[in-house]
Amino acid sequence: MRYHEAPFFLLPATMHCPFCGANDTKVIDSRLVAEGEQVRRRRECVACGERFTTFETAELVLPRLIKQDGTRQPFDEDKLRAGVQRALEKRPVSIERVEAALAHIKHKLRATGEREVKSLVVGELVMSELRKLDEVAYIRFASVYRRFQDLEEFREEIDRLAREPAKE
Ligand SMILES: [Zn+2]
Repeated sequence: MRYHEAPFFLLPATMHCPFCGANDTKVIDSRLVAEGEQVRRRRECVACGERFTTFETAELVLPRLIKQDGTRQPFDEDKLRAGVQRALEKRPVSIERVEAALAHIKHKLRATGEREVKSLVVGELVMSELRKLDEVAYIRFASVYRRFQDLEEFREEIDRLAREPAKE
């Protein structure tokens, strides 16, 4: 089954249940298929409890990532979330703000209109979001991501952070 829905950063997406017609369904599993060109979702109807599967069209799928060695891989939202959460460990940032930041990153990736983007682009988007959320998390992420060569480089980044306001 193919259907069109609002881009999925506008959660929750609505979908009519094919069994009872209710439009309140929840996604219970989501995975990329056809080499990342489609999203297969298992949904469950909140009204009648029936389960069904949908295949969403390629336009809703995030671009594939081009790694530094030139290999391509499907965008992995779980990996993105894990990276952001690791940086934010024990920091005073609510789940809602984290989810909003993730949604913002996905929105920007989708808005490129590209089928493939360099993985570096994602790293830069994550850093830009983390800067707005929490500076400690930002430095944690940047220090791993940019692999600061030495203490001096790290200090320069801290100074840069102090000088420049976070970009919107
Ligand atoms: Zn139903």
